[in-house]
Order: sequence, then C-alpha cells, then structure tokens
Amino acid sequence: MACSGSSQKRIPPLYLFFELQFTLLQSEYLFMAQPFKRIEHAFINGQWINSKNSLEVLNPATGECLGKIPDLSSLDITQAIDAAEQAFHLWASTTPLARANILLRWETLILENKEALAQLLSMEGGKPIAEARAEIDYGVSFIRWFAEEARRINGEVIPSEAPDKCAMVLKQPIGVVGAITPWNFPHAMITRKCAPALAAGCTLVLKPSELTPFSALALAQLALEAGLPKGVLNIVTGTAEPIGKVLCEDTRVKKISFTGSTQVGKWLMAQSASTLKRLSLELGGNAPLIIFEDAHLDNAVEETLRAKFRNNGQTCVCPNRIFVHQSILPIFTEKLLTRIKTLLVGNPLEENTQLGPLINEKAVEKVERLVQDAIAQGAHCLAGGKRHALNGNYFEPTLLTHAHPSMRICQEEIFGPVATLISFTADEKVLTSANSTPAGLAAYLFTENPARIWHMTENLEYGMVATNTGMVSSVAMPFGGVKFSGFGREGSSHGIEEYLYLKSFSWKIKSY
Ligand code: ADP
Repeated sequence: MACSGSSQKRIPPLYLFFELQFTLLQSEYLFMAQPFKRIEHAFINGQWINSKNSLEVLNPATGECLGKIPDLSSLDITQAIDAAEQAFHLWASTTPLARANILLRWETLILENKEALAQLLSMEGGKPIAEARAEIDYGVSFIRWFAEEARRINGEVIPSEAPDKCAMVLKQPIGVVGAITPWNFPHAMITRKCAPALAAGCTLVLKPSELTPFSALALAQLALEAGLPKGVLNIVTGTAEPIGKVLCEDTRVKKISFTGSTQVGKWLMAQSASTLKRLSLELGGNAPLIIFEDAHLDNAVEETLRAKFRNNGQTCVCPNRIFVHQSILPIFTEKLLTRIKTLLVGNPLEENTQLGPLINEKAVEKVERLVQDAIAQGAHCLAGGKRHALNGNYFEPTLLTHAHPSMRICQEEIFGPVATLISFTADEKVLTSANSTPAGLAAYLFTENPARIWHMTENLEYGMVATNTGMVSSVAMPFGGVKFSGFGREGSSHGIEEYLYLKSFSWKIKSY
C-alpha cells in the first residue's frame, strides 16, 4: 500500500520527468498483468543449465523469495567461455546487416513483452513500476542504436607514405567479452554492454548481479527467440568472486566490461593484469550538484528532485553533494522540502509509487549510518532521516542541511534517498570542493550565466556535466567517468569502439 506523511492525491511519478518516451497507454497494461516468467537456470551455449548449488533471490519490497539461481562452479564458467570462443568465429564473420537484424528482432520482442519485463524488474529490484517501464525503454534504446551502428563500423583509407603502397585501417571485433553488471539497472546495464558487443561481432559471457538475475535471464530468452546463435550470449549466475576470477584470468576473454563499485573495479583490474585484458570500468560516483544564485529556482528544485530521488537515490550519477549558494539557500530549502514531502513511498508495483525500498538491509544500514553520522557532526534533518514505517528495506525521503564536505555523507556514495545541502558563496571555492573527491562521474550545474557554465564545465573533473537539467544520460551521449569513476565509454557513437581493435593494413601494389 502506498503511503506518505502528506496528501494521497495523485502525484506524477518521477518517470514523467524523464526525457524518455512513454509509448504505451496505461490501459494496455491492464491486459498484461503477469510478470515475465522467472527463469531459474543459467544460459550457456544456448542451453538452460542447472547446478547442484543455488542462491536465493529476494524481493526487496517484501523479503519474499522470488526464486533460485544456479551457483555455478568455475568449470561451468570455463564452459561458458568455451562456448563464447567457439561461437565467436561464426558470429564475427556474419554481415553487419545480419547482426543488426537480430538485434532489431530482439528489440521488438522486448517491447512486445515490456510490461511483463517491467514487472519482473520491479519485483527483483524494488524499482517503482513506472521507472521500471522507463528503464526498459532506455535499455532498448541501446539495442536500436547499436543495431544501426553495426553498419557503420567504417575503417579508414590513409594517404600512404610510400608511392607503391596502400595504407588502410580495419576495425575488428576484439573477441570474447566478460561482462559484469550491477543490480540498480538490471535491464539497461545488460543491453548497454551486450548491444555494442554483439553489433561489433563479439560474443559474451555475462554475469548479472546475483540480486537481480531474472531480468538478464529474460533478456537471454528473448535473444534466443530473436535468433541469436547458441554461444553468442551466455549468462552465468552465482557467487561473484570466483566467476570474476575465471573471467579475468582466462586468456580467451579479451575484454572485461564492468559496472559497479570502485573497489570491485580495482580488484578486477588487478586480476586482469596477467592476461592483459582491455577494460571498461564504470565505477562509483560522488556527484556534485551546484545551484548558483542566478539559477531558475523552480527548475533547479524539480531537476534536483528527479536527479536525487530517481531509483531511490540508487544510481551512480545521483547527486551526492548539493551545493547551494548561501543567498538562495533558505528559499531553495523550503521549496525542496515541500516537494520531498509529496513523494509517495510504497509498493513498487503500484502505479502511484515514486519511491520503493532500498535493495537490501545492508543498503538501509549504510544510509542510516551516514545520516546519523552527519547529524552527529552538525547537519540538520528537515525531513525523514530514519527507516520508513513500512519497515523492511524502506527508508524515508530525507533532507539534510548544514552539511559540510568533510562529513562522511559527502565523501561516500550515499546510494539512498537523502538530499544533502551544503552552503557556498564563491565560485572558485565551490569548484575546488566539487573536485575534492576521488570520484569523477557526473556533475550538475544550475545557472543562467554562459561564461560560468563554460568555465565550470571545462574545470569540473567529471566525465559528464549537465547544466540546468538533472538528466545526464542518453543513448546518444558517451557515458563514463574519470579518476576513480573508471574509464571507457558506453552508448553514443564511441560505445562500439570499446569492442573493436584497429588493424593497420599495408599493401604493396606496384610490380615486384
Ligand atoms: P554494488 O556495491 O553496487 O553492489 P558491486 O561492485 O559490489 O556494486 O557489484 C557490481 C557487480 O559486481 C555485481 O554483479 C556483483 O555481483 C559483482 N561483484 C561483486 N564483487 C565481485 C568480485 N569480487 N569479482 C567479480 N564481480 C564482483
């Protein structure tokens, strides 16, 4: 049941603020109330695989066991790599059009099953259903984009240094890819890696988060139906550490693409050293959001709300530190507080719900600990600050003021529904504070001053900077960070390069 401390009137869900198209009418959903079936097997070489050990998958909203997944052995992972290696030669030699057509059939099947997939995603990830639908749309946008890119993997013809030679560059698929994905986007992080890899001609062994494996397995089922040959996409399930080790240490795996925490990214990089893997690491953030005194206030409030509370604050681009110019701090705080109080917390499967549970008890404990520490250090709590009356993994939407960059809550990724306001007065000081973190993923600015926008954008040490909007991600833009937020880019025309290598081709053409 949805509940909140304030009115029960219908509030637009956070997804309505997204730049994504909401394509189906709500009435259409009424005919498709069942979630996609939970597949309790791994997927290797086109076969559904069991194992004697298994892991339980829990619904974060209810604690109910949704099902079990195989806890695969190292031998199973090696067999998945065997399958991907064998399939690679065939898949890489297909035409880009053939690969694009399979990707487009996959997209169609996903959209035909959109509601069922969204419900499954919502149940395993605790994401409000409206946001789950938006994630499916976001996820398929990568499939369409890279299906189109498959046909534009153009090489180069280079004016030769020698009169009797041609000089060219071929772009070729790098081979088997090991992909490891997180729980906070159980659908879109899979497609954002698989679509460019498959379009390039690579094959994959993908390990989804053990907390949200069913969305990945549903995607594999639909890929099979779309005609993806056996062995091209393998989904391995189970305990993370041994799976990561096998993927990193097998020389046949040419690349690791990982989205997750900085700590695990460092381990994977160290483990990959002996096999000299190519790596893409999309790691944690500590996003600053800076509101200057000339910002359009209502826009800043709405965009801060959607950036901060999307997915209950559980995204790596969520603003972690909200810097507000001292002169507008009282009015900004009042407006944000009013909006936070309207947020509806509840069952993620209910249409009106805007905030569901956090992913698990560990996440709740972390948020609770950071909030309590901030309050002990002098922060003021104007809303929330504690576990929600719904219990379980629910936490109240929270507003903290009088925060300071030295507090742990400003130094660690909160990954929860806590807006933390810090006052500032001078541009250069806030720039220095914003950059004073090892992370460098996303940053946000709110100002109407073009010179300031340019100066800040150039000098913020972040992979992505958004101005006057809380949405930093789109399929057309390269997504990724600098510093401890990792390297490599996903999405955009650059995303496919992560799965290609350049081959220089010199050709003597005159008589010998
Ligand atoms: P988060 O803290 O957001 O859960 P993690 O980095 O722990 O981020 O998890 C992201 C992904 O990395 C998940 O699929 C998880 O199972 C996997 N993972 C976690 N630890 C390891 C490890 N030691 N080796 C390989 N993968 C891991």
